[in-house]
Amino acid sequence: MSSFEQAVLIVGAGAAGHGCARALRTEGFSGPIRLINGEGAAPINRTLVDKGVLPGLLTAEQIALPPLPDVEVIDARAARLDGTERAIVLDDGRVLRGIAVVLAPGSAPRTLDAAIAVDPAVRLHAMHRAPDAEALRRAIPEPSGARLVVLGAGFIGAEVASHFASAGARVTLIGRSPLPLRAALGAEIAGRLAALQSERVDARLGAEVRAIRAAPGAGAGDAAVVELSDGTEIAADAVLVAVGSRADAAWAGFDGAIPVDDRLRAEAGAGIYAAGSVAHPPTGAARAHHWDAAVAQGAHAARTVLHDLGLGDDPGPWASTTGFTLMVHGAVIVGRGVRGADARETVAELDGGGLLTEFADEGGALTGVAGWNAGPHVARAAARL
Ligand SMILES: Cc1cc2nc3c(=O)[nH]c(=O)nc-3n(C[C@H](O)[C@H](O)[C@H](O)COP(=O)(O)OP(=O)(O)OC[C@H]3O[C@@H](n4cnc5c(N)ncnc54)[C@H](O)[C@@H]3O)c2cc1C
Repeated sequence: MSSFEQAVLIVGAGAAGHGCARALRTEGFSGPIRLINGEGAAPINRTLVDKGVLPGLLTAEQIALPPLPDVEVIDARAARLDGTERAIVLDDGRVLRGIAVVLAPGSAPRTLDAAIAVDPAVRLHAMHRAPDAEALRRAIPEPSGARLVVLGAGFIGAEVASHFASAGARVTLIGRSPLPLRAALGAEIAGRLAALQSERVDARLGAEVRAIRAAPGAGAGDAAVVELSDGTEIAADAVLVAVGSRADAAWAGFDGAIPVDDRLRAEAGAGIYAAGSVAHPPTGAARAHHWDAAVAQGAHAARTVLHDLGLGDDPGPWASTTGFTLMVHGAVIVGRGVRGADARETVAELDGGGLLTEFADEGGALTGVAGWNAGPHVARAAARL
């Protein structure tokens, strides 16, 4: 076997892939590590696309992840997985083999339902890569009073709406759910967020989009008219689609996310692992939809690889211990752990106007906590998770 065939191959150099490569080295792996980076630029901290590049605070180069010593970065996209051979075929035709393959290609933005009629002349914006943020900045310059329609009131839609509202744009935020993010924040905090959105932007929550047409008289480009199912028409200088994400693993033969066991071994073959937002752990374990969880999952996959190669202890089952922070219109919303599907929610109003919601399972065990301007309270409650 050549030295390259002794390599651990990692597909995707984002949160999970980078975290996996780093953990392999810190846990003492001395063989080659080949990190396949399909970003089309340096690997980035994706959380800074809307928080750094969009407001013009950081350039695409400044959100690059730090290079890892003694890790080979291969700038190409993986086009096919051969699970039996532990091989990756790259889009330039090269075939890489390894002693283990960790799949960490993340997610891609979800597109609009086919039922929504979209005029192909309208350029819809996404918010996933640094060039997406640069393109939306160009479409809605500051300070301008330009009209932005944001489709989707989840994490990214909420943050982008908040940024442009504070920059003087006229923002319409359209969400299908009357209580966006309820599944992550609980009813009380989601209700407070919805009320704040209604104060600061033109929030159309519980609304359905029927069609997106080019603005009258406009050629191909950003300007559009968004039509809701009740017939309301909203004019926009640009439209952002932020309706969630989907696992980016079709290239590897997966229809959706990659099923893994509780140690993050993929069912695709011996020596194949998956980590980050692409991985679907067994029922009960949370998916890694946030940055810290994806980094931690990459590190966990690294420890499982080392164990399976006879180079380390069994890391045990993956468990989520991290969370998220969302900043919208000046409110700081923090979550830790998970809110299960049938969670019981206990809400406490805090001095100073904060809120703390604890989520418990059917047996009453704490599974997660969310806070509204309640940082230290969340940290204290999360210690009981
Ligand atoms: C705009 C935005 C803001 C966000 N803000 C936050 C936040 O504030 N807090 C938070 O916790 N989370 C945030 N997230 C979510 C967070 O970024 C993700 O949960 C995290 O990046 C997932 O890590 P990952 O490793 O699975 O995917 P990524 O970090 O996306 O890494 C996957 C990498 O794989 C590459 N890739 C894909 N396919 C291939 C292929 N075939 N071959 C080679 N490479 C490939 C991709 O180009 C990418 O570089 C945000 C996401 C977005 C889009």
